[in-house]
Amino acid sequence: MRSAKGAYLTDADGNTYVDYINSWGPQILGHAHAPVIEAIQKTAEKGTSFGTPTELETQIAELVCSMVPYVDQIRMVNSGTEACMSAIRLARGYTGKEKIIKFAGCYHGHSDSFLIQAGSGAVTFGTPSSPGVTQGTAKDTLLARYNDLASTSSMLEANEGEVAAIIVEPVAGNMGCIPPQPGFLEGLRTLATKHNVLLVFDEVMTGFRLSEGGASTLYGITPDLVCFGKVIGGGLPVGAFAGPREIMSHLAPSGPVYQAGTLSGNPLAMSAGLAMLSELHEKPKIYEQLDGIGSALAQDISTALGERSVVHQINQVGSMLSVHLCESPVTDFDSAKAGDNERFKALFHHMLSLGIYLPPSAYESWFLCACLDDSTHNRTVEAFRSFR
Ligand SMILES: *Cc1c(COP(=O)(O)O)cnc(C)c1O
Repeated sequence: MRSAKGAYLTDADGNTYVDYINSWGPQILGHAHAPVIEAIQKTAEKGTSFGTPTELETQIAELVCSMVPYVDQIRMVNSGTEACMSAIRLARGYTGKEKIIKFAGCYHGHSDSFLIQAGSGAVTFGTPSSPGVTQGTAKDTLLARYNDLASTSSMLEANEGEVAAIIVEPVAGNMGCIPPQPGFLEGLRTLATKHNVLLVFDEVMTGFRLSEGGASTLYGITPDLVCFGKVIGGGLPVGAFAGPREIMSHLAPSGPVYQAGTLSGNPLAMSAGLAMLSELHEKPKIYEQLDGIGSALAQDISTALGERSVVHQINQVGSMLSVHLCESPVTDFDSAKAGDNERFKALFHHMLSLGIYLPPSAYESWFLCACLDDSTHNRTVEAFRSFR
């Protein structure tokens, strides 16, 4: 790709596409959003990195604390991967326990502990459990089924006193979009508290996307720690992890759990993130708008595929959506894997040839942006209508 503006991408040959990936999440307000670009330009003139905190970093930290109710303190890093990796280290240091529970098909970045039955590109390319991860590391990651409280509960009982954290995508987005079933997040909260385990919400995808306070606010469940990425950087490399002071104070330099980063919190990245979050904070109606775009697409795409008798399932939560070519509802990794992957490839290429840029795998969520309009909607639905 060569450039992008609003809801459109332009490739090296000059073809344009309606973009449903939006850099895998960050561009929730569309590409090259003017306030974000201006903030980056203005900041760049004053120098890009000082290796010491700036007022911009404090401002975005305060803004996040006001947008996400349970967050007192936040640590900036450079990616979602770093955020999850560091949050788990903190959970282990805080609890003095070593094991973690993750859910099959959830993706928490590419650090070793998480590449066990991982979703996203790891499963698309056939390596959900990556070579290069040592058995020593793998043995500390326990695997439960998404939307299955019984599997989580029995795992906690079998490993009583050894589990530091349960990490979960509160709305899964890396095996397609899979909403939590009623009671699942509540149940995880109850189990974590009962077994003295930290509940870590990986909101790298959902944070600032599903609501100002992310999925935790949408579903009314408070985790012990949260990981951010994607939207928080406004298109520059930013991740963050955050939580209440009681836990965050165990982090260096105030506590013993070490974490650091040369470019973490650099002013360029902070200015982009601050411009993005400020706008989302000032215009909270944007979340209703995004949900409207998402539900209209879900409905009309389903009708279009139905007209062609294409067997499908569509999951949608706000500005996350995915189409699975299978008969049964998609509620976990196994049901996501039941889809017809060869047919999905044909669908992807059909759409691409008509100028619609979808995620190239059913194991990825679409990321909708606020620049999508009637024209992109109609073009997309028409393209689905001609799939056979
Ligand atoms: C994208 C993603 C990550 C990893 O973030 P990177 O910035 O790509 O390292 C972690 N968790 C979830 C839920 C994600 O969607």
